[in-house]
Amino acid sequence: MPLPSRSIAAIATPPGRGGIGIVRVSGTDLVALIRGMAGRTLPARTATRIAFRDAQGAAIDEGLALYFPAPHSYTGEDVVEWHGHGGVAVMRLLLARCVELGARLAEPGEFTQRAFLNGKLDLAQAESVADVIEASTATAVRAAARSLTGEFSREVHALRDALVDLRMYVEASLDFPEEDVDLLREGDVAQRLAAIRERLDRVLVRARSGALLRSGMTVVLVGAPNVGKSSLLNRLAGEDAAIVTPIPGTTRDTVERQIEIGGIPLAVVDTAGLRDTADEIEREGMARTRAAIARADVALLLVDARDDGADPSDSTGGAEAPVAELPPALPRIVVHNKCDLACAAPHVERYDIPDGAPPGDAAHVWLCALTGEGVALLEAEILRIAGVTHGLEDAFLARTRQLAALGEANDELRHAADHFATPQPSLELMAEHMRRAQVAFSSITGEFTADDLLGEIFSRFCIGK
Ligand code: GDP
Repeated sequence: MPLPSRSIAAIATPPGRGGIGIVRVSGTDLVALIRGMAGRTLPARTATRIAFRDAQGAAIDEGLALYFPAPHSYTGEDVVEWHGHGGVAVMRLLLARCVELGARLAEPGEFTQRAFLNGKLDLAQAESVADVIEASTATAVRAAARSLTGEFSREVHALRDALVDLRMYVEASLDFPEEDVDLLREGDVAQRLAAIRERLDRVLVRARSGALLRSGMTVVLVGAPNVGKSSLLNRLAGEDAAIVTPIPGTTRDTVERQIEIGGIPLAVVDTAGLRDTADEIEREGMARTRAAIARADVALLLVDARDDGADPSDSTGGAEAPVAELPPALPRIVVHNKCDLACAAPHVERYDIPDGAPPGDAAHVWLCALTGEGVALLEAEILRIAGVTHGLEDAFLARTRQLAALGEANDELRHAADHFATPQPSLELMAEHMRRAQVAFSSITGEFTADDLLGEIFSRFCIGK
């Protein structure tokens, strides 16, 4: 790929006022630009105090300059950073001065795109740069950092390399059909294919947990007025997020709070007390409730523990209709609140759902929202439904695109294994499935990724990255 030649410049720090603001420039030759701004040459990789100068030589600001000559820089090109004072106007002046000296404004993600094109990062690493910046919980930051430092890419490369090795045997037996049995036996094809699939399974588990860290979940609280929805939301959020009052119908609007359970960002939506009403504002609240239900990942169906024994859909008072409206595939946890008043200790009861059946009432949890007793049990159930069966310490912050590619590779390798298990395996088909799996792996690290997809990926970055 030809090296991009025109220098690019951007303000790399967030807009607003701060102690320091940074303008960054990358290009194949920054000598003239540096001389124009600093009035001198700069030593490599050394913080140098200078005055930033305008075209007349007057000072715009004073600060530090850092020069990273190619190829030892973020982009692999010459990079210079101007560390000035963090004000909106001064940053704009410094940026305009860079443009005057020949740079153009960088597109979103263009620095990272150049780093990718110059082989400083592979595609999975480049994408994780944006993920580190956007991560909303500490666990998500660490998962993105694992991708950034190349742990995810190394796993994918290892899978691809093992597959390439294996393909050699299969392709060789296609070229020399009379020897195919020997070649395949020599290569232990079945065993090696099984080993690759096992390794891929482990990567998939880590990537799926990471996808959850990235996108989070929406949890909706449904239940009759006064059953304790607001109290529970406050408990989960650990702050006074919703107004709690003993008057039915107080929660008129949908209240949404961002919380974190086990490192996963959760949008918890409290719903308007669902009941028949002539009040227009309350009716509007109910319309929002239905919208929240439509995008939820799990519903918490609140009932009063004192009503135990009754069918949960009956015990929600006026809420029968919304309970019936829950999509059958939406997992639900029935929360028996106010267990203190029902003289019951907090506990969980689970019901086995047959394979393929809608998740329905996945679990029942008895708790006391007022004191918080049993709320940890509920959090654990939510995580279980999310598919988090072990910690997220080793998750990869995978993107939908990467998960899809891993899933595709998984399918192709399963087909290949199925073929090989038949009495007369078709080596052509097997080879083709393995080739496709390899393409899927390579699309993650960027070896075979269409140019338009690259454009799309980098355009989602923020400017200056
Ligand atoms: P919502 O209308 O469903 O949002 O219900 P609220 O959260 O406003 O609670 C209604 C009333 O029940 C308030 O007086 C709460 O203090 C009370 N309440 C909520 N949870 C519990 C609980 O676990 N035990 C007891 N004893 N009272 C509770």
